[in-house]
Amino acid sequence: MTRTAVVTGASSGIGEATARLLAQQGWHVVVGARRLDRLEKLAEEIGGTALRVDVTDPASVADFCAAIPEASLLVANAGGALGTTSMADADDAEWLRMFEMNVMGTVRVVRGLLPALLASGDGQVVTLGSIAALEPYPGGGGYNAAKHAVKALTRVLRLEMKGKPVRVSEVDPGLVETEFSVVRFAGDQERADKVYEGMTPLTAVDIAETIAWIASRPAHVNIDSVLIMPRDQVSAQVVHREL
Ligand code: NAP
Repeated sequence: MTRTAVVTGASSGIGEATARLLAQQGWHVVVGARRLDRLEKLAEEIGGTALRVDVTDPASVADFCAAIPEASLLVANAGGALGTTSMADADDAEWLRMFEMNVMGTVRVVRGLLPALLASGDGQVVTLGSIAALEPYPGGGGYNAAKHAVKALTRVLRLEMKGKPVRVSEVDPGLVETEFSVVRFAGDQERADKVYEGMTPLTAVDIAETIAWIASRPAHVNIDSVLIMPRDQVSAQVVHREL
């Protein structure tokens, strides 16, 4: 029987690449995000199902989960960073949006799909943390705090699934060239390009391959967490650049 995987944030970057790889591995993939036009194209290509969801809206997540009767894998990937504002200038709205996207978005989708994941008899949740979940950096306040929270809730879920048929994993990428930096810098492509200048970042496929590998381990194997950085990035903000 074909098993169902749900990938949030599948309209771009890591989520899109993960949906493609999971489909190649034989999963029926439900792809979710706000940009339905992109999702529909992807779903057609991979034989999956496109569903619009805004993870910052509880009613939207409830509708999304209600439309998914069965699922064995959830990749809670929707998220991102906004700005690089210092603590001295911390902007409430920016912080709250990052918490809504990364933390509450993950909480809501996990809560909504957990009954189906448990009922599958071999469920899996993969959350997207970040090097920012491990190493705070100047200007990273809101994103660091949100991804540290994702790490904490992932750990709590793993503890609470003790004795239950749901595995829980976290993938923590370093620099991956996607739409991430364009979103962080509010559409400023030039500023986004500078993040990857003179170095070789990871690609979305690099991370998708790891998620697909985690998802294809046997049922008794739980990959708890994986930190993946480019060779050129040795720490959150220590990057080798040939300029
Ligand atoms: P991306 O290309 O910007 O993709 C982000 C995805 O999240 C998009 O599909 C976007 O779709 C979706 N999304 C954003 N807000 C959403 C909302 N309110 N509701 C539903 N979906 C939403 O960035 P990415 O690099 O692939 O990021 C994927 C995940 O990896 C994020 O959690 C990010 O924090 C994490 N990560 C990225 C990096 C990196 O360097 N790129 C490093 C570490 C961790 P819509 O706009 O269509 O809704």
